[in-house]
Amino acid sequence: MFCTYDLHNHSTASDGTLSPADLVRLAAGAGVRVLALTDHDSTEGVAEAERTAAERGIDLIPGVEISVTWNKQTIHMVALNVDIHNDQLQQGLSGLRAFRDQRALEIGVRLEKAGIPDSFEGARALSNGRLISRTHFARYLVQVGAAKDERKVFKHFLVNGKPGHVPGQWATLEDTVNWIHAAGGQAVIAHPARYRMTRSKLRRLLADFAALGGDALEVVSGSHSKDDAFVMAKHAREFGLLASAGSDFHSPETPWVAHGRLPLLPDGCRPIWHDWSLPDSSPVYIMVS
Ligand code: AMP
Ligand code: MN
Ligand code: MN
Ligand code: MN
Repeated sequence: MFCTYDLHNHSTASDGTLSPADLVRLAAGAGVRVLALTDHDSTEGVAEAERTAAERGIDLIPGVEISVTWNKQTIHMVALNVDIHNDQLQQGLSGLRAFRDQRALEIGVRLEKAGIPDSFEGARALSNGRLISRTHFARYLVQVGAAKDERKVFKHFLVNGKPGHVPGQWATLEDTVNWIHAAGGQAVIAHPARYRMTRSKLRRLLADFAALGGDALEVVSGSHSKDDAFVMAKHAREFGLLASAGSDFHSPETPWVAHGRLPLLPDGCRPIWHDWSLPDSSPVYIMVS
């Protein structure tokens, strides 16, 4: 049995390689009934995704994955069911995109010093004029042969201590929760196991988040193991957080937990969608033989 909800996905509006329409078609064809579009720091793809979802008869949840700096570390907060026309949210996101633009220039300068010219222009071209992510730098560096794959670019060039690293200056945890709530949405800590925090640090994050009124923890994620999901389910219960599930899809070319193949939430989780009233109360599970 698999989960028909997939509440974390990227398109060309950020660092995904499929247009919002193609993403929705791929997911719907694979059995997803409720899909959230959650591009980094942008809701630009939501309208297109909504049109295609309506054609395909699935539910599209408007969302965004917001970049946050907490305790000098970058973490990601997924916002679900936001009103994308909310001013407070959009002002917050536009500030983050302004930092991205400045950071991209700076990454280009630093990589040039490391002997890789023109990476800003290269990354910008790959972003199609939309926001520039480190993923676009990674793709460009693979193209010019500076590394074998995107993962290696991150490892050798883009992370802390490497030549193209620029420290994040993203939103605060508090502002982010407030923007999401102002826009009528729910705030979810994304892929918690990916931060490689100690257990006590993660619990400090969850305590801070819960105290600010944060709603949920991404328990099932494309970047989580089965054990990660069980551990996160326990944390969610303990901090009174709802549980979310999403593939974090970016591209059919990179390994990802395929749409329609996300595992179910572990027993005892309260799903983030428990009080959503969707137009056609979608079944939560699909059986695949
Ligand atoms: P940014 O928000 O521009 O700093 O870029 C973060 C994005 O880079 C993430 O959302 C992932 O899509 C991608 N990313 C981060 N770390 C890695 C990695 N080690 N390998 C491949 N992609 C990564
Ligand atoms: Mn990404
Ligand atoms: Mn993320
Ligand atoms: Mn993501």
